[in-house]
Amino acid sequence: MRILKWRVNVCHWTTRLGQYLNLNCQMFKLTMLSLCYNAFMSPNIILETAMEPVFWIVDHFARYMGPILMGLVLTFSSAGVIIFYLIMIPRYLVYGWHWFLPHFIFGNLLLINVIFNYTMGYLTDPGHPPQIVPEVVSICKRCIAPKPPRAHHCSVCKRCVLRMDHHCPWLNNCVGFYNHRYFFLYMVYMMCGCLYGCFMFYPLFYENFYVGKEVVFHGALYPLNMAYNYWVSKKKSYTLIAVSNGTSIKLTPPPPPTLNLTWTDHLYHHSVIFVFFLGSGCVLALGLLSLWHARLISHAETSIEVHINKNERKRLAKLGQKFVNPYDYGFKRNWQLFLGLTEGRTFWRHILLPSRHKPSGNGLQWETTTFTVDSNFDGVRIL
Ligand SMILES: [Zn+2]
Ligand SMILES: [Zn+2]
Repeated sequence: MRILKWRVNVCHWTTRLGQYLNLNCQMFKLTMLSLCYNAFMSPNIILETAMEPVFWIVDHFARYMGPILMGLVLTFSSAGVIIFYLIMIPRYLVYGWHWFLPHFIFGNLLLINVIFNYTMGYLTDPGHPPQIVPEVVSICKRCIAPKPPRAHHCSVCKRCVLRMDHHCPWLNNCVGFYNHRYFFLYMVYMMCGCLYGCFMFYPLFYENFYVGKEVVFHGALYPLNMAYNYWVSKKKSYTLIAVSNGTSIKLTPPPPPTLNLTWTDHLYHHSVIFVFFLGSGCVLALGLLSLWHARLISHAETSIEVHINKNERKRLAKLGQKFVNPYDYGFKRNWQLFLGLTEGRTFWRHILLPSRHKPSGNGLQWETTTFTVDSNFDGVRIL
C-alpha cells in the first residue's frame, strides 16, 4: 500500500512538472511570436531581412566598385580589340581586298555600335522624377517625394529613377527609362562582336592551343584532353624493346627538339589564347544576360518588376484570380516601345546604326491596358 501511494505521488509530481514546463515553453513561444508578429510577415520579408548585410555592403561599396569595374571593362575590351586588329588585319589582307573589305566593314560596324552604346549608357541620365509628378502612385520613404508609376529608389545613387531596371556597376550608372535601350544594345552588340571575334580567331587559336598535342576532346571538354595527353605522355615515356635473348629493356625516348622562340613569339602565342578565352567567356555571360533581358522586354517588365509581378501573381492565384501586367501591350508593341521605333523610325537606321533618339513617352505617365495617357488632359483616361 505504501509503495502504491509513493508511485501515485511520483506520478502527480511529474505531471505537475510537465505541466509547468509546457506552460513556460508556451509562454516563451508566445512572447517570441508577439515580439516578431507582423500582419504582413511573409517568407520574402524574412529573406530580405536576412539579406540586409549584403544590401548594406552593396549600398556602401557599389559606388566605389563602379569606377574599378568600368576600368576593367575598358582595359580588357581595348586589349581584345588591339590584339584582334594587330593579328587579324595582316592575315585578312593576304586573302585579298574582296575578303578583307566586308570583314573590315562588318567588324567595325559592331565595334562602333559597342563604343556608342556603352558611352551613351554611361553618359545618359536614366531620368528622375521632378518635384511635381502628374501621376503619383506612392511616396518614396527615402527621398520623401512623390513617385510616378514604375519608378524606384536606387540606394547606390540615392535617388528615385524612372522605370528603374537596376544599378549597373559595369556601366557605373543606373539603368532606367532614358538609357535602358543603350544598355541592352551594348550587351547584344558586345556579344555579337565577341562571337564574331571567336569565330574568326578559332583556326589561329586551334594552332596555338593544341600545338603538339593529340586532340581527342574538343572545346569545353578540354580538361579531359589535358588528362588524356598526360596519360599518353606517361605511357610513351618508356619504350619496350624486345632483345634477341627473350628479355626486354626499357628505353626513355629522346626529348623533343627545343624551338628557338623569341619573346614576340611567346607574346603572340599567349595573346591568341587570351583573346579567345576572353571572347568566349563574354559570349557566354552576355548571351545569357541578353536572353534574360530580352525575355523581360517581351513581357514589358523590368528586373525589379519581374519580382513584384511574381509575388502579385502568387497572391492573386491564392484568391483564385489571374494577374495581368497592365504595361504588357503584346510582344511586337513592347519591343517597338522599348526600342523607340515609333514616329516613323526604322530598325535599319535607328538600331543597326547608332542613334540618339529618345524612348517613347516621358517616363512619368504610362499607358496601361486599362488607361491611356491623354496629352491634352492633365491625367489619365479610362479606356
Ligand atoms: Zn527615392
Ligand atoms: Zn543607381
